Amino acid sequence: MDRQFRMLIDGELVDGASTFDVVNPATAESFARCPKADEALIDRAVVAAKRAFPEWAARPVEERAALVSKIADSLEARAGEFASLLTSEQGKPLDQAMYEVMGSVFTLRAFAEMRIETKTLKDEGGHTVIEHRTPLGVVAAITPWNFPIILVMNKMGPALVTGNTMVIKPAPTTPLTTLLLGEICAEVLPAGVVNVVCDQNDLGHVLTGHPDVAKVAFTGSTATGKKVMAAAAAGVKRVTLELGGNDAAIVLDDVDAKFAAQKIYGSAMTNAGQICVATKRAYVPQAMYDDFCDEIAKLANAAVVDDGSKQGTTVGPIQNKMQYDKVNALLDDARTRGTVIAGGEPIDRPGYFIAPTIVRDLDDDAPLVREEQFGPVLPVLKYTDIDDVIARANDTDMGLGGTVWGKDLARANAVAMRIDTGTVWVNQYLAIDANIPFRGAKQSGLGGELGEAGLHEYTQPHIINSVALEDA
Ligand code: NAD
Repeated sequence: MDRQFRMLIDGELVDGASTFDVVNPATAESFARCPKADEALIDRAVVAAKRAFPEWAARPVEERAALVSKIADSLEARAGEFASLLTSEQGKPLDQAMYEVMGSVFTLRAFAEMRIETKTLKDEGGHTVIEHRTPLGVVAAITPWNFPIILVMNKMGPALVTGNTMVIKPAPTTPLTTLLLGEICAEVLPAGVVNVVCDQNDLGHVLTGHPDVAKVAFTGSTATGKKVMAAAAAGVKRVTLELGGNDAAIVLDDVDAKFAAQKIYGSAMTNAGQICVATKRAYVPQAMYDDFCDEIAKLANAAVVDDGSKQGTTVGPIQNKMQYDKVNALLDDARTRGTVIAGGEPIDRPGYFIAPTIVRDLDDDAPLVREEQFGPVLPVLKYTDIDDVIARANDTDMGLGGTVWGKDLARANAVAMRIDTGTVWVNQYLAIDANIPFRGAKQSGLGGELGEAGLHEYTQPHIINSVALEDA
């Protein structure tokens, strides 16, 4: 690709201190060069964001929201270009890439509509207590490689509308769509309000430890999230952590096996399973187990596994070599403990492809069940007792999402209430909406994103408690 990509610092599109290769996971070959920051460039970005903050925060919210809408309009106008670049760097099929880009547009527009009203806590005889919400300052937004563009929007929408400025750092294997977004921000926003810098997984600590960063909004693995939280502690920075998951799907005994298999297949295999809230283990009643396994294996065998840029592809590659090796290691282990009934064979072609794979007859202590596989390999487990299966679903440090499938909605909802996660979807999956708060329980996160609660995360209360003086 001849196209040059530049970082955005203080309103200028700038070169890095060096560059590195960005690999297309469908070919395992480099297709673009990415600029790489050094500590001095990251510092410049933070200084620019700090300088831009007072003027940006002082603007009326309507003006800030109008500029956020303008970013959404520009993104929509270039949706095709973004989607195609997203497929090249991330691997997902083009229709899923377009869905992510348009979801990004909708997310920005949803936040542009949201407002935080001041609250009057007391108004009696000249004594007023008013709760205002004020912005925090410079927000460092650090994102992963599975949804490189929409996960930026979950942070950028609320941060900008509420009056913060930002330094955004994408994952090094998927930096390009974020750099393209930087080009839009350079046209639409005042200098310094949004800055975009890139690294090779080696400069995140410069942002999280920077004294002028007020908040770190992080999405990524639980292991890195713990480092972010530790680094933020020194400056008592605000943090939002959206971390890993090990979501269970619980199929109840009154639901059709074929229907449940179709839905759970979609929930497990979209984006080649690289979704924080993908179904990562499915629990099925013993009486339905064989039928369910047969149905989901049929769906896995019918997948079109190919380069995401080819029409008709339903499952693209794993995004990067490290993740590909990790999923293969879990699969190799699972092969010795259970029965692979679909997929599982190496695919003899360049690129990081793993066909949708279904493994049955595993014990709960298999690593494929206990760990987050983050790939298209699903263990299907059987159960006989509802209390027992709920305990098994909850027996994890993770607590992000999950699904329950049942015809008797009251019973399904009652089961959902007992799943210890931030979100449980009943008879649906991945129903994420910018207007609905999203957050993880246990080690899946701290704080949260989306919805009005997601807007509040970028503000702090500012209480003005005042008493009128009596005329002397
Ligand atoms: P990762 O933790 O390896 O990297 C995420 C980001 O953190 C990258 O930008 C990386 O460069 C940066 N980083 C690395 N070391 C850092 C450090 N010491 N300080 C600051 N930043 C640092 O995660 P990943 O492998 O890119 O993403 C996959 C993980 O993300 C999965 O566990 C998945 O479940 C999780 N995820 C969670 C959500 C959610 O909303 N809860 C959404 C998507 C992905």
